[in-house]
Amino acid sequence: MTRMAIGGIVAAVALAAAAALAAAPATGPAQGKGAVDDMNPRAPTTPLNITLEPFWCPLCVADKRIKAEPRELTMMRKPVAAVVEQLGLKKTPWLAIETPHFKIFSTLEDSSVKYADSVYARADLDRLKKLGFEFSLGPDSAKLDAHVRVHMYQVRLERQYAHFSALTGNTKPNLGMGLPYEIWLWNDYTTHHEFVDRYVGGKNDKGGVQWHFTEKPNFQVFSCAESIVTAQVAKGDGALANHVFHNVAHLLADGYNNYTRETPAWVEEGLGHYYERRENPRWNNFCWAEGKPPTDFTKPDWEAIIFTIVRRDKDTPFATWCEKLQPGELSGIENGLSWSIMKWLIETEPLRLTKMFEAMHDLDRNLKPGELIQDAFGCAPNVLYQRWREYVLKEYAGK
Ligand SMILES: [Zn+2]
Ligand SMILES: [Zn+2]
Repeated sequence: MTRMAIGGIVAAVALAAAAALAAAPATGPAQGKGAVDDMNPRAPTTPLNITLEPFWCPLCVADKRIKAEPRELTMMRKPVAAVVEQLGLKKTPWLAIETPHFKIFSTLEDSSVKYADSVYARADLDRLKKLGFEFSLGPDSAKLDAHVRVHMYQVRLERQYAHFSALTGNTKPNLGMGLPYEIWLWNDYTTHHEFVDRYVGGKNDKGGVQWHFTEKPNFQVFSCAESIVTAQVAKGDGALANHVFHNVAHLLADGYNNYTRETPAWVEEGLGHYYERRENPRWNNFCWAEGKPPTDFTKPDWEAIIFTIVRRDKDTPFATWCEKLQPGELSGIENGLSWSIMKWLIETEPLRLTKMFEAMHDLDRNLKPGELIQDAFGCAPNVLYQRWREYVLKEYAGK
């Protein structure tokens, strides 16, 4: 990704589309009890092995949920309380916790997790219960207070991490990064803006912001505000979660093997859309550099759009656009196609995909995006693309 990509969001669900969805929820994820759990991407009948412990949280210490271990959590290389003080947020309630691979800071308020918000919502809530949290499960949603909601992100983020780690067969601490991934979840835009302004210095923070602090031990940060997601996408915990899944996919791809080169844009955005859409296809996120976000692929049903594009030969040659390095350079259509190609590769060629990931940061070989494809898949980008087109014409027909 770019040094600072704008983890943008888009009003992915126009009002008309939202109304259509409400009338026909069949395209949404499984609902209620019995929803599917996450599986190991290299062994699809084996449940994913998710590491949720040990974790540390001052409120859980006070509640005796975890062992009393006094500690001062550091984020941005200093005590979190010092960051809060520097930002002048003494009156804002906040909480910071540490999980096996993440440090999560939050000023989010309480919220309801609807079972229909994600394929994995019910299973995640069960995991939360197993960690010792108490809350009641209603007929179609669970209300979480601000504290428990942060731990819901612990479950979500560690599940996403476990999936990417299993997909790529990477078992290094933090996938190879020096320190855990830092996730800053702000309730409102003003505090997100102040944080980014002071510590990252980006100009466009109207979406989420990612940053790689490359000084050793290096780490990556993602900061976003729920109020922006509410205004631009939709209200509620599910829309924010999808926004986080998209952007954390970028952090993991860039953290993989302590990667410091640019990742091909189609890989970045393909993964971002893969990880958000497997939760729920309603809320899509786009990263764009400047100006207006993409206007294509704003409806949830991407398979039907892609099928039409491919059948009518409206797609542009993959050999050309696979060379793009900045996510913001991808058109809306290329965002959609990247998602489908990545999903197809994850489901059918995880080992070769990993071979491509491993070659990406090999500075001696210094392969270009097209050469990476040739190296990993043993064919030119357009040959791989042709195989994908045949898959689309067969599998997306009638969707
Ligand atoms: Zn806690
Ligand atoms: Zn993105």
